[in-house]
Amino acid sequence: EGLGELDARLTDCRACPRLVDWREEVARTKRAAFADQEYWGRPVPGFGPHDASLLIIGLAPAAHGANRTGRMFTGDRSGDVLYRAMYDVGLASRPTAESADDGLTLHGTRITSPVHCAPPANKPTPEERDTCRPWLVGELRLLAPRLRAVIVLGAFGWQAALPAFAEAGWTVPRPRPTFGHGARVTLDGGAAPLDLFGCFHVSQRNTFTGRLTPEMLRDVLRDAASAAGL
Ligand code: SF4
Repeated sequence: EGLGELDARLTDCRACPRLVDWREEVARTKRAAFADQEYWGRPVPGFGPHDASLLIIGLAPAAHGANRTGRMFTGDRSGDVLYRAMYDVGLASRPTAESADDGLTLHGTRITSPVHCAPPANKPTPEERDTCRPWLVGELRLLAPRLRAVIVLGAFGWQAALPAFAEAGWTVPRPRPTFGHGARVTLDGGAAPLDLFGCFHVSQRNTFTGRLTPEMLRDVLRDAASAAGL
């Protein structure tokens, strides 16, 4: 199975009853500003080339962002910040992401999340995180031959991703490395060593308060791109 097939199977997943209800209810009721749009309302697959050497791991789709447009970080404020910074450092073809057919392409980089369905209040449960992990493990296995660096956005993604790296064949140190902005860990044992970078999530809570500035984000993107040979 290739990534295209994995993504296609993922979009039919209904394994988490609470998230299936929520993603579909949001898609039915909509936000007034998007009342004339058809929402995606399904699991959102990873976005970017199948031979990416850099992977960015977020948290979960936003109810009126990726759950509306069907593409990671597309159509919400978090994505505005992420894609702007990716464009600034040469990883994205455009500085903005509005819809799945806006023509945006990513350079050597794929974006995914440990939970693929929009959760209420942006908070998946530990059980939902664990239920969704096999999708991330499958994606990591398929990317492994070319993958050299990963940026994890936020502590939730970090906690969710470390067991997935272990299941996909890398050696995760014990005790587990702790999350922090600027954390950097090298995982051995896979097809090639993997450089793991921690970065505060691009959520409004972090970007509006200045906890994560565009400069801080660009610095992590540049370091990780360099580690990935981009
Ligand atoms: Fe399936 Fe993951 Fe969505 Fe749960 S969160 S329904 S496991 S795609």
